[in-house]
Amino acid sequence: MSKSKSSESVKVVVRCRPMNEKEKAANFERVVSVDVKFGQVVVKNPRGTAHEHPKVFTFDSVYDSNSKQVELYDETFRPLVDSVLLGFNGTIFAYGQTGTGKTYTMEGVRNDPEKRGVIPNSFDHIFTHISRSQNQQYLVRASYLEIYQEEIRDLLSKDQARRLELKERPDTGVYVKDLSSFVTKSVKEIEHVMNVGNQNRSVGATNMNEHSSRSHAIFVITIECSELGLDGENHIRVGKLNLVDLAGSERQTKTGAQGERLKEATKINLSLSALGNVISALVDGRSTHIPYRDSKLTRLLQDSLGGNARTVMVANIGPASYNVEETLTTLRYSNRAKNIKNKPRINEDPKDALLREFQEEIARLKEQLEKRSEKLEKERKAIMEDHSLVAEEKLKLLREKEKKMDDLKREREAAEMLAAKVKAMESKLLVGGKNIVDHTNEQQKILEQKRHEIAEQKRREREMQQQMESRDEETLELKETYSSLQQEVDIKTKKLKKLFAKLQAVKSEIHDVQEEHIKERQELEQTQNELTRELKLKHLIIENFIPLEEKNKIMNRTFLDEENDHWKLRPITRIEDNQQMMTRPVSAVGYKRPLSQHARTAMTMRPDVRYRAENILLLELDLPTRTTKEYEEPVIAPKVAAALEDALRDEDEIQVDASSFHSSLPTPPGACVSTIKKPKSSRPKTGKKASTPTSATSPSSSGHPLYPQSRGLVPK
Ligand code: ADP
Ligand code: MG
Repeated sequence: MSKSKSSESVKVVVRCRPMNEKEKAANFERVVSVDVKFGQVVVKNPRGTAHEHPKVFTFDSVYDSNSKQVELYDETFRPLVDSVLLGFNGTIFAYGQTGTGKTYTMEGVRNDPEKRGVIPNSFDHIFTHISRSQNQQYLVRASYLEIYQEEIRDLLSKDQARRLELKERPDTGVYVKDLSSFVTKSVKEIEHVMNVGNQNRSVGATNMNEHSSRSHAIFVITIECSELGLDGENHIRVGKLNLVDLAGSERQTKTGAQGERLKEATKINLSLSALGNVISALVDGRSTHIPYRDSKLTRLLQDSLGGNARTVMVANIGPASYNVEETLTTLRYSNRAKNIKNKPRINEDPKDALLREFQEEIARLKEQLEKRSEKLEKERKAIMEDHSLVAEEKLKLLREKEKKMDDLKREREAAEMLAAKVKAMESKLLVGGKNIVDHTNEQQKILEQKRHEIAEQKRREREMQQQMESRDEETLELKETYSSLQQEVDIKTKKLKKLFAKLQAVKSEIHDVQEEHIKERQELEQTQNELTRELKLKHLIIENFIPLEEKNKIMNRTFLDEENDHWKLRPITRIEDNQQMMTRPVSAVGYKRPLSQHARTAMTMRPDVRYRAENILLLELDLPTRTTKEYEEPVIAPKVAAALEDALRDEDEIQVDASSFHSSLPTPPGACVSTIKKPKSSRPKTGKKASTPTSATSPSSSGHPLYPQSRGLVPK
C-alpha cells in the first residue's frame, strides 16, 4: 500500500436548499442561482440596481435545490469514505446558517431511504465494503459527542451530566479522555448507537432547535483493518471518519448582554469563530501560529484542517432574499477554506490500534485453549488405561477414577468457556465474504460502479469547463490577429468591457469585505468594552472589599493550566517550595487536639461531654421543658358521684328485691319472686371501679330505694 505524502486541498461544496413553505407563502425573492455545470453560485443583491453585477463564487461542486442525497453521496462523500476504509482520516463538516440543511445533509430523514443523509449512507457503504472484502479483518467503532458552550458531552455515556476533557499525547495527538466508543458489527448496530446519541442529545435540551443551532455534534467512526502484507506480517490500517454537524453560523447578538448572558453569548460562537481564525491563518501563508488551541472544536479537529486528513466542507445556504447577508458570509467563509492544504496519509500500524489488542488477546486465549485440550486428551487416555485396571482391581480404583472423571468434567467446562470467549471476541472482528449486508449481489456492485463512474465523469467535466473558461481569457489575446484597425478596436473594447466588469466585481467584493470587517470589528470592540467594564467592576470589588493580605495569598496560589488554557488555584495546603502537605497545628500537650484554656478549665470543673476530646456525641434525647400537667380528676358532688357510680355499675352486681311490689301487682304464674339475676349485659364495662358504693344505692341496706329501680327488672 503506497503512502500518499502529497498535499491536497480541503474540498468545498455548496448546497442550496429549496424555498420552504413559509418563504413561498411570503413571496420572498430568490436571490441565489446555482450553476451545477460550472460549479458556480451566483448571488444577486436584492436591493441592488439593475446594473449591479451579481456575485459569483466557484467551488469544487455545487448542488441546487433539486439535488438528491444519493447524488451528493456518490459524487462527494463516497470517495472520502473510501479513503477512510483505506486508512486515511476523513472529516465532513456541514457549515451554514441555522435552517439551511446542515442536519438534513448529515442525517437526513431517517425513515426515508431517499432522504437519508451522509451518516446513514456511510454506514451502508462501510459495511457493504467490509462484506465484500477478502482476506481482511475489520473492527468498526463509533463514538458520538457534542460541544456546547465549550463543554464536551459524551452522547453515548450513561452519565449525561459529566463533562469530558481534551488531552494530548505526543504519539497520538489530541483525544477526548474517557469518551465511550462502541464496537459495531452491522448497520443495525451502528444505527442504534446513533439513535441513542440523538436521544441523549435532545433529552438535555429544552428547545431542541435552539440547542442544536448552538452546539456542534460530532459522530466518529473508527475503522481498523488488518491485512497480510507483502512481508508476511499482519499490518493494521486505521481510518477515522469525523462527521460534524456544526452550530449555526449566524451571528449571535452580544449587544446588551451582561454577566452570565454575555459570557454565554461569547462562548456560543467561540468554536466557530476560532474555526474561522484557524482557516484564515492556514490560508494566509504568512502566519506561523495557527490558533488551534483557542477552542475545543479546533483542537479536536486539528488534523482535519491543515493536517493528516481528507476534508470535505459542505456549505449550506438558503435561497431567499432575506438571508442574503448570511448566505454571502457563508460563501466567503467557505471560499477561503478551499485554499487549506492538508497532508493526508494512511495510518499504518498505530500504537493504539484496538484490533491489534483484540488479535493478541484471541491468540493468547487460543493458546490456552490448546493447552487445555492437550491436557484433556492426556487425562482421557489415563482414564482409559484406568478402565482396564478397573477390570482387574475394580473396587480399589473405582473412587480414584470417579475423582478423575470429575476433574475431567471441570477441565472440559473451563475449555468450553474459553472457547466461547474466543468466539465472542472473534465475532466482533468482521471479515469479508459473510453476508453482513443483504444486497451484496453482483448487479448491485455493477450499478454502484456505474454510478461512481458517472460521478467521476461529471466531476471531470466540471473541472474541464472551469479550466477552459480561465484559459479562454488568457489565450484570447495571443490568438488574435487583427485584419483591420476597426476590428482590433472592437475586440479590444469587448475585452476591456469584460475586464472592467471583473474589476467592478472585485471592487465591490473588496467593499463588501471591508464593510463586513468593520461590522465585525465594531462588534468585537463592543464585546471588549463590556468585558472591560466587568473587569473594572471586579477590580473595584477586590481593591475595596478584599484585604490585601488575602488577595496576595490568592495571587500566590494562581497558576495557568497550559493544557486547558485556564487560570487555576493551587490547593490551599500546598507549600510553594517543597510541595508538601502542611502539618496540622500542634495539639496541647497530653490532649488529642488543640484545646482552648476555657475548654480545659471547663473539663476539670465539670465532666461535661462538650469539652471531651472524643465521644462528644450525645446520644440521649435532649428533652424540652414540660408544658403540660398531670391529670387530676375533677371534684364532683357526692350525690352526682353516687348517681354516676350507680349508672355505670355492672348489672350483675345489682340485687333487686321485688317483694314490696306483691300487694299492688298480680303475680304472674311461674314468676320468680326471689332475687332475679339478669343475664350478662353486653354493655361494655367502663373500667371504673365501684370503689365507693354509697348506702343510698344499696336497696337492701336502706329498706326503700332513693332512686328509681334498676332498669327493666321490674315485672310489669
Ligand atoms: P440546520 O440543521 O442547518 O439548522 P435543517 O437540516 O434542520 O437545518 O433543515 C431545515 C429544514 O429544511 C428541514 O425541515 C429540512 O427538511 C429542510 N431541508 C433542508 N435542506 C433540504 C433539501 N436539500 N431538500 C429538502 N429539504 C431540505
Ligand atoms: Mg441542525
